Amino acid sequence: MIPFVSRADVAEQTNWIEQLSAAMPNEVIVPLNDLTLEQRLQCDIAIVANPNPSDLLSLPSLKWVHSVWAGVERMLNELESPPFSIVRLIDENLSATMSEAVLAWTLYLHRDMPIYAKQQANTVWQQQPMVHAKDRRIGVLGLGELGRVSAQRLAANGFSVAGWSRHPKQIDGVECFYGEDGLTHLLKQTDILVCLLPLTKETQGLMGQQNLSFLPIGASLINFARGPVIDDEALLKKLETGDMSHAVLDVFVQEPLAQEHAYWKHDRVTVLPHISAPTHLVSASEIVAKNIKAYRLTGNIPPAVDLLRGY
Ligand code: NAP
Repeated sequence: MIPFVSRADVAEQTNWIEQLSAAMPNEVIVPLNDLTLEQRLQCDIAIVANPNPSDLLSLPSLKWVHSVWAGVERMLNELESPPFSIVRLIDENLSATMSEAVLAWTLYLHRDMPIYAKQQANTVWQQQPMVHAKDRRIGVLGLGELGRVSAQRLAANGFSVAGWSRHPKQIDGVECFYGEDGLTHLLKQTDILVCLLPLTKETQGLMGQQNLSFLPIGASLINFARGPVIDDEALLKKLETGDMSHAVLDVFVQEPLAQEHAYWKHDRVTVLPHISAPTHLVSASEIVAKNIKAYRLTGNIPPAVDLLRGY
């Protein structure tokens, strides 16, 4: 038996269990609460979506958990040293969806849509200077599953693209930087910054006053990663002074974004309700099923999150 462990409401849990069960008919997948004490003692796998840590710790034989989400930083934060491996969702459909969102909002900024929307509201007929895509420099922070595909999609659309990661990389059509010096270099030559970093101890607050200051005047930001990577106060300051021209934000320190937050009504901010790359129930279930079937056959746990690195 495989428990589905989640803090989601009953309807969402039922949806997941139905879809996961259809993808692996040989397994019995049930809400954690449906397991007897004896069954709990035997579980070696759990499927999770924002699980309560104490629920997972109530399964003493657990070898690994499969998250149906790509981001697992909350679980890593809440479970100090989990006695099991944590496998996150890696789904090429998710990467395609994220790269589509990155392209869409990059084009929004590149073709000056926020400015034309303001002009229309004020009945202003004024043409902005045209910049060709090859002259628009996009910097992508994070070149993992989502960042790499997004950077390549931007390059395929004619933009001048650079990317930054922890380790050196080679990606066709993307100028790759790494490490602290690499970040400064990238920021200094970036018109539109796209953040696709995981939230870790090292990335928390990474885009604060100093790093934002390396961006050229008039640069914009797209944050599709996690809210705390950006220092909100520093960003608001940069937007107010006009040093930065716009921010498209899909993720926030607190979600939903508080009603009174300055971002909502800021004319240089686009607020999105965490929709850049939602998990797709069907494809995620198929991937989880494939990994669990392989484990049943070989005993091999899929590549897990590195607990020290935090991603
Ligand atoms: P990933 O495959 O783990 O890639 C992470 C990338 O960030 C890697 O390239 C890694 O460098 C780099 N990185 C991590 N820490 C770094 C540091 N301290 N300095 C420099 N580079 C660093 O993650 P992913 O699947 O692409 O997902 C990224 C994040 O997107 C997730 O963690 C999640 O928070 C977010 N997300 C958001 C949504 C949404 O709807 N808004 C949906 C899904 C995911 P190396 O390659 O050198 O290790």
